[in-house]
Amino acid sequence: MLKTVIWAIAPLFLVACVTAPAPVRTGAPIDIGAGADGTGTASNLPTAPPPAGSFIPDERIKICTGLRVQNAPVNDRNGYVLDYDRLVVARDQIVLAPVPLNGGCISSGFGQRNGRLHKGVDISAPRGTWVYAAAPGIVLEAGWGGGYGNYVLVDHGLGLVTRYAHLDTFAEGLDVGSELGFGWPLGQVGNTSSRKVGVHLHFEVLTGNYNNPKKAFGMQGNDPFAFPVYQTPPVS
Ligand SMILES: [Zn+2]
Repeated sequence: MLKTVIWAIAPLFLVACVTAPAPVRTGAPIDIGAGADGTGTASNLPTAPPPAGSFIPDERIKICTGLRVQNAPVNDRNGYVLDYDRLVVARDQIVLAPVPLNGGCISSGFGQRNGRLHKGVDISAPRGTWVYAAAPGIVLEAGWGGGYGNYVLVDHGLGLVTRYAHLDTFAEGLDVGSELGFGWPLGQVGNTSSRKVGVHLHFEVLTGNYNNPKKAFGMQGNDPFAFPVYQTPPVS
């Protein structure tokens, strides 16, 4: 009986092993498999986070329809973002997912907006959609931050930091100092903020030195779609 049970669940572990700790730095071949096309609806959202490392970035992402999208990234006639790549390279070495969730659409791009710099991109997705670490790293900050609401700030090294804001919930056990692999769950999409915001992820890719008096506020924002594509090294 016990044997049967073990064999029944064994494939789950195999899948987890194959997809687990994904890219760390460029140079190592990785296979992220076939992801969704970015147009999915999250009708059957899991309430528990998916296994760490199981995140596969979507193949493409669209501009949201039916919303007033400011700073929309360049897109084709069907609304798909032309510069989107599933994985990009930041700081010449760090493999990063520019959209760290599945089934979202872009509700605001990076750049000047209403006279202020929108320091990230807004990715609209149903409340409860899981948000993942865009690259391996260590949690620098996790908590409540005014306009950001519930947010997580992750240090990827080499002067690269990412911020995930307006989260509804945090992944269990996540705290300052937590070490994360690529695609590890951080929390779920929500609309927490001191301001009125729609349900979306505000995602920032910051570069510079975090150890300045203004911390992350003193770092430079970057358009996640502007980084070069990550080319999977050929398997020899
Ligand atoms: Zn935003």
